Amino acid sequence: MAQSHEKGDPIVTANNPIIDLLSTPLGPDWTVEKLAEQLLGTIAAQSSGETQEFVLDADAVTDRQSRRLLRPLLACLAIKSAAEVGIPAELYGGCFSFKRLGPEGPVWILGQFENRSGSVRVTLRRFNSPPPPTQCRYCKGSGIDPRSHHRFTTGGHDDRRCPRCDGQGTID
Ligand SMILES: [Zn+2]
Repeated sequence: MAQSHEKGDPIVTANNPIIDLLSTPLGPDWTVEKLAEQLLGTIAAQSSGETQEFVLDADAVTDRQSRRLLRPLLACLAIKSAAEVGIPAELYGGCFSFKRLGPEGPVWILGQFENRSGSVRVTLRRFNSPPPPTQCRYCKGSGIDPRSHHRFTTGGHDDRRCPRCDGQGTID
């Protein structure tokens, strides 16, 4: 990557693995699931000591195969990420969170996406160290199960156990 890193927050647009992957001719046994894992593996394998960002907006994609694959790929990533984090999948927009093994150890791949007709875009960021934990979306950081709130109380306090974050209020 011969990108300038002067600003400390590099935006890498050349050698974008998302663009490369989507436009590569598909093998006979391809699946969206395999493409999704291949993308995460390619991003994890990037040798960079810095946080990298990969952005793709469907409006900028002209390749026909890429246009056809982008939405199913994002839906697949959304399901995968939700399963790995243990939250319900949001298919039309939300956040990605993956942990994969890179050449020098674990790599975190976080991102945001939109997947609605007319608005399809994705941003993925690769981190070499654990990102700060994100607020649990289920309890909005309160640690309280919204269903049990005010229903079950222990010693006059609301039961603080949220089934998603186990009452922590954050998800690693
Ligand atoms: Zn929670």
